[in-house]
Amino acid sequence: MKRFAARSYVAAQRHPHVASAVNPEIIQHYHAHVYYDPASSRDRAARLRERVAAIFPDVTLGRWHDTPVGPHTQSMYQLAFPPLLLASFLPWLMLNRDSLSILLHPGTGDAYADHIDHAVWLGSVLPLRVDVLRKSRKTPSQS
Ligand code: ZN
Repeated sequence: MKRFAARSYVAAQRHPHVASAVNPEIIQHYHAHVYYDPASSRDRAARLRERVAAIFPDVTLGRWHDTPVGPHTQSMYQLAFPPLLLASFLPWLMLNRDSLSILLHPGTGDAYADHIDHAVWLGSVLPLRVDVLRKSRKTPSQS
């Protein structure tokens, strides 16, 4: 982290536009939302969940939501993890998602930006209920 900060400082002096770039240190956590179809892919989602629990004990497993909740338009469960885990957990998810769609987003405190502007999708991009995000901009419980 120290090296990153020092390099950013030097870059900001040389390139004025870098100074206004958002510092990733504002990211408090990440969510990976794992989507599934209760009729056809719940078993794969369950297998992925078991593997995550076994290999990444620092990932917090969220509840199953067979009925879409919050901004999500498909069944899903959430995996929450600290920023330090991203470098090992993301490549693991890339290789082991088993064709499931996953929305990966940072937690910066701005729910709308986190889900729409800053999100990364693994697999197919699914629609989100943007109106829900706008309404609960502070801290939605299931976003
Ligand atoms: Zn989320």
